[in-house]
Amino acid sequence: MFRLRGTALPSEQTVELWVDADGRLSDEPVPGAQTLVDGGWIVPGLVDAHCHVGLGPSGPVDLEEAAEQARTDRDAGTLLIRDCGSPVDTTPLQSRPDLPEIIRAGRHLARPKRYISGIAIDADDPALLPELVAEQAAAGDGWVKLVGDWIDRGVGDLAPLWPDDVLVAAIEAAHGAGARVTAHVFGTDALPGLINAGIDCIEHGTGLTDELLAEMARRGTALVPTLINVDTFPGIADSATRYPTYAAHMRALHAGARDVVRRAVEAGVPVYAGTDAGGGIAHGRIVDEIVELHAAGHPDALGAASWAARGWLGRPGLGVGAPADLLVYREDPRRDPAVLREPASVLLRGRPVRATAR
Ligand SMILES: [Zn+2]
Repeated sequence: MFRLRGTALPSEQTVELWVDADGRLSDEPVPGAQTLVDGGWIVPGLVDAHCHVGLGPSGPVDLEEAAEQARTDRDAGTLLIRDCGSPVDTTPLQSRPDLPEIIRAGRHLARPKRYISGIAIDADDPALLPELVAEQAAAGDGWVKLVGDWIDRGVGDLAPLWPDDVLVAAIEAAHGAGARVTAHVFGTDALPGLINAGIDCIEHGTGLTDELLAEMARRGTALVPTLINVDTFPGIADSATRYPTYAAHMRALHAGARDVVRRAVEAGVPVYAGTDAGGGIAHGRIVDEIVELHAAGHPDALGAASWAARGWLGRPGLGVGAPADLLVYREDPRRDPAVLREPASVLLRGRPVRATAR
């Protein structure tokens, strides 16, 4: 049981909070509580809105390694993960008190040879998508992940995976089951079909045009740019020697990625922080993504990885009765995101966790 006093974000009010024996926040003094902090900045637990627990650099990993990945994220301050597709059923990790909360999206849905092999469920016939979406909506925690575009080796460039009418039926099926849908999209061509079908979020989104951003803003469609993953595009291009058009496309998308983020926030699109950890990206890098969003011109890069993302995912901030998932910093972390690498204290469900910030 703890007592904390400091400046709460985003309200900027000086608050005095207690953590009760159940690990929940209270505004009533808890007898015997130990003062954890007196002064500093109190921030709702960080969120990695695009992460893959159960996926390593060479594919699926066992449950113990998946737990280690989630622990690494936790130690960087991530206390809530939106898992954006995993080949491993990580449901058993959800009851582990030492791990961040994981909101699972089930398995990626793709077509044969149109994603990293061995990860997705492949639809032999694209018309099967609505049925597969319904299955994943039932298996996950309110999110379904589609692969929206990928290299088509016959075309030699990025190309959409799904016809527009199939997307309309698939997204309707998910919404009917109470699930939201998101899609991996690098290029531009797959975007109009997904956005106009009512998709809830776009991952990466490096091909977004001003017209598409305006439509996303109108609909409230979110964007998770994963900038630290987009920084791997030049390397992907370098190794795609047999597909020069694709390679040039990937380089151009990388060059424009920061500008897309700036234009998205200017257009009013909700933009959240996600690292894409789990494939080529190491776990535990949420602060790197916040720093990149800030540098790209996101006016609330910390909120994008904390209170705003928590609200979007239906999770509380620092309210009374909420689980005490929070971080405390000595300085205002909005002034300089580098402060995020040195939390004074991290509580997960009211218990201090080791914080080896990166
Ligand atoms: Zn991903």
